[in-house]
Amino acid sequence: MKIITSPAEMKAFSLTHRRNSNSIGFVPTMGALHEGHLSLIDIARKHCGCAVASIFVNPAQFGPNEDFAKYPRAFERDCGLLEAAGCDCVFAPAVGDMYPDNYGTYVNVDGITDTLCGASRPGHFRGVATVVLKLFNIVLPDAAVFGSKDAQQVAVIRRMVEDLNLSVRIIAAPIAREAGGLAMSSRNAYLTIGERREAAAIYAGLAKSVEMYNDGCRDSQQIKNCVLTEINRSSTIKPEYVEAVDTKSLQPVDKIDGQVLIAVACRTSESGTRLIDNVVLKDKNL
Ligand code: AMP
Repeated sequence: MKIITSPAEMKAFSLTHRRNSNSIGFVPTMGALHEGHLSLIDIARKHCGCAVASIFVNPAQFGPNEDFAKYPRAFERDCGLLEAAGCDCVFAPAVGDMYPDNYGTYVNVDGITDTLCGASRPGHFRGVATVVLKLFNIVLPDAAVFGSKDAQQVAVIRRMVEDLNLSVRIIAAPIAREAGGLAMSSRNAYLTIGERREAAAIYAGLAKSVEMYNDGCRDSQQIKNCVLTEINRSSTIKPEYVEAVDTKSLQPVDKIDGQVLIAVACRTSESGTRLIDNVVLKDKNL
């Protein structure tokens, strides 16, 4: 597995592969990898001849009071996991190579970035869209794989790809979960033992919403209340939002019709960890 830190070298690597008709499947990450990330590599490999992962903790997507400095970093271990997963190349640029001193260009995706996580993390999706566009321009992927856990991120990237006429196919991967249902996340490393146990309430709530939907409930408020009730059983998991939104526009819906995203964000009260999760409610035949 090749490890590349220079953007110019990464672009040269990708151009060589593309000239040889080898398609590139790309998985952008911030490292501290878990099985969720590795499942994306698997998907990239299935769709493309060459799998490239990036490891870059992107300062532009962290707010001033967020966890950029303490975000877990485990580069050697990550490279071992990626190599074992069949990844062909890791791109791990330095912050100064991505954002030199004179850096001044940012991507704003309007509308869908104001709701859900965007409401409490101003500038977050501007940082995400900016770094993803830069990475696309450096890695030149045919396809890029993103996790559905970050459902708003997937919607923002799809919007950007459409709006800016990019030629990258976006693939959304299912959410990888711990045995108890907790969505895997690099930030789970922050959780206290008690929080980790209680965090299973988030998925328990979402699983209940699927049950209610399958039993015929189509009322968003009832479904949201049920998720909230389940989460509020725990003493350390505090809901930030529970929303029922259209999967594309991310606008709230009163009735569950078509495909509706039930999205949750919580903050834990001991370690202050932010956790997100979601399910999509849709007719089985959709
Ligand atoms: P991150 O390193 O947290 O920026 O995540 C990199 C990619 O992995 C993003 O596309 C995430 O949505 C995806 N990802 C993170 N956690 C999971 C998970 N539990 N299941 C599937 N994909 C995930």
